Amino acid sequence: MKQFTEEEKIKILSDIIAIKSINENEIEVANYLKNLFAEYGIESKIVPVTDTRVNLVAEIGSGSPVIGVSGHMDVVSPGEKKEWTTDPFTLTERDGKLYGRGTNDMKAGIVNLALVMIELKENNELKNGTVRFMATTGEEVGGAGSKKLYEEGYMNDVEYLWVAEPSHDTIIYSHKGSLNLRLMSIGEAAHSSMPDQGYNAINPLMEYLLELDEKLNGDDRKNEVLGKLVMSTTIFNAGNQVNSVPEKATAEINVRTIPEFDNDEVIDLFNTTASIYNKAGANIDVEVTMSLPSVFTTGQSEMVELAKELGKKYLDLEISVKGSPGVTDASNLLLDKDGNFPFMMFGPGETKMAHKTDEYVYKDYYFAFFDIYKQLILGLLK
Ligand SMILES: [Zn+2]
Repeated sequence: MKQFTEEEKIKILSDIIAIKSINENEIEVANYLKNLFAEYGIESKIVPVTDTRVNLVAEIGSGSPVIGVSGHMDVVSPGEKKEWTTDPFTLTERDGKLYGRGTNDMKAGIVNLALVMIELKENNELKNGTVRFMATTGEEVGGAGSKKLYEEGYMNDVEYLWVAEPSHDTIIYSHKGSLNLRLMSIGEAAHSSMPDQGYNAINPLMEYLLELDEKLNGDDRKNEVLGKLVMSTTIFNAGNQVNSVPEKATAEINVRTIPEFDNDEVIDLFNTTASIYNKAGANIDVEVTMSLPSVFTTGQSEMVELAKELGKKYLDLEISVKGSPGVTDASNLLLDKDGNFPFMMFGPGETKMAHKTDEYVYKDYYFAFFDIYKQLILGLLK
């Protein structure tokens, strides 16, 4: 009978925190987990996404129903190391909290999923169905890993999906989409004493962005759970000398979309507006750099109900069930599923802690989610 001790759980998490999978290098995490699974006779498969980046898929049990459990192996940069109280890649315990880059987002979640799989397999506890573990690459930079899993059919037979992203006392069953666009306006340089000799690249791009800002942020459409679409211009660059009319201006924007006003419609609006400006003499080019659709499910499922009960029991917290403005790999994984599909994001760590300096997860909650996940699988596959 295998029962991971708390020491073992901490040791494995700290090994994985020590792997600097900062938007790359997920392969080391994948190899670590592959070896860990292999120790207990669980076969897993590395699924290449690019030359250097991979997903890992492991499975226990057989037949239906198939539960998909997922998490990403990459973390965001720790930023300035000196801003951290202790080394970001050395798991450090202080006051009941486990500090380190990725403890919260989301290596605690992914380790729990892996360890639960091992115990279920090792103790022969799974009587029915399949659990498919899908660890992804590059979630923080456009979801390339989850897209690959979707394209290769790993989601085809999945009947329940949860993503172990940090959500603490909240079950998320719907989230907004995320769309990044890069805009480039080309003009013609001139001395600022004779601006009519050139074409200022800033002016049309500024007007264009303000017009779209008003169109998008002023749109009345509203999702009952997710609220309204929001758009922000986040980067604007142009010019390099105060007395020169700039020949180039670039901007990047991020849009958080809803099903009622989706990525395709936004992209179309940017393109058609650009062509109107371009007919009037501007030269604005629109490039889509990332497009993740929103995920909208009803949240009405046996899985969500059971997770809520288990959350209350093991975390000793009131669990709320709602929508979120953030995105997850579910944007890609659920591409052809409808609103009735049982989906949730539920995992150790607080959403607000993600990407922060001195990132941490509460040790007790890290352990509690192990029990929640295990009981959830046993409850759904009984
Ligand atoms: Zn995350």
